[in-house]
Amino acid sequence: MNNFQAYIEAIPDAAVLLNEENKIIFFNRRAQSFFGLKKKKHLDRNILQIIDNPQLKNFLSSRDIEKKISRGIDIQSPANSSLFLSLSLLPCTNNTRFLLARNVSKIHRISKMRKDFVANVSHELRTPLTVIKGYLEVLEDRLIDDKTLLFPILEMQHQSQRMENLVQDLLMLSKLEANADKEVDTDLVQIPSIIKSLIKDVKHLRSNKNQEITSDIDNSLLIAGNEYELQSAFSNLINNAMRYTQENGNIHIEWVKKNKLICFSVSDNGEGIAKKHLHRLTERFYRVDKGRSRNEGGTGLGLAIVKHILNHHHASLEVTSTIGKGSKFCCLFNA
Ligand code: ADP
Repeated sequence: MNNFQAYIEAIPDAAVLLNEENKIIFFNRRAQSFFGLKKKKHLDRNILQIIDNPQLKNFLSSRDIEKKISRGIDIQSPANSSLFLSLSLLPCTNNTRFLLARNVSKIHRISKMRKDFVANVSHELRTPLTVIKGYLEVLEDRLIDDKTLLFPILEMQHQSQRMENLVQDLLMLSKLEANADKEVDTDLVQIPSIIKSLIKDVKHLRSNKNQEITSDIDNSLLIAGNEYELQSAFSNLINNAMRYTQENGNIHIEWVKKNKLICFSVSDNGEGIAKKHLHRLTERFYRVDKGRSRNEGGTGLGLAIVKHILNHHHASLEVTSTIGKGSKFCCLFNA
């Protein structure tokens, strides 16, 4: 064994050296247990003929190696279904590259437990909340003339609505997480009409702020994806713009092609967001101003939902903002 091979044997990951045609040149001992590779049988064979996994095929076929080192993908081990592997690619000399696999089963298990727990709790809370809301409605009707009791009833209604919004958003996040690895539909979605109907709805719902909503929508632009998810992401961004923009403010919505990308953007001339917050906005429950968000009926989960939906569509979110001048949230899709 030469120094190079000894070094590759010593690393804690499985390592498979592949040529440009994905033929296996060399692999270490961990690759035998993680991928089920055997020296006598598999050397010089195309790894995709040995491991039949569409995710691995996509991963190896994309040319975007730089990104993969930082992002990687997670797959189930083809040799042991209880193992989860995080894959990354590392370019090597002479058009060869290392396929590296790290055992992330423990993190995977803990993360699954967390996801299941949140999904179950949210689901279980739905029925009691519906019952409470129902009785509060009955009480409101009966106590309409009793001022001392009416106020607490209205407050309880407000708080139970907040809880319902939270439960709905948590369930939506759980669903998105569960479907994250599934490819989105290839059906084209009528985005222009979705945006127009969202604008109509919000104008109606939040008309008390008298904000002006303008739009620039290219009717010929359609993208493939999940209609329900895209509608939810766009609705979150439009609602946020209205929520965090003062009375008589302006909101502008665009669905246009920019360079090689298709962009859905919502710009407002509201309060704006300080630079130090921008990179944390899509974290769950991250709010710039907690009180403001709560007063406006926010759950702190809207942008986390947007981020998940965009990831699912291989799209990204770009946020620019200036305090006192306003913000622009832009979803960028591949054309
Ligand atoms: P929330 O339900 O609190 O609105 P989000 O995840 O949708 O949660 O947004 C996170 C935080 O980002 C908000 O609490 C708010 O502080 C900030 N934010 C989102 N959109 C805007 C906007 N258009 N203008 C100013 N701040 C915004």
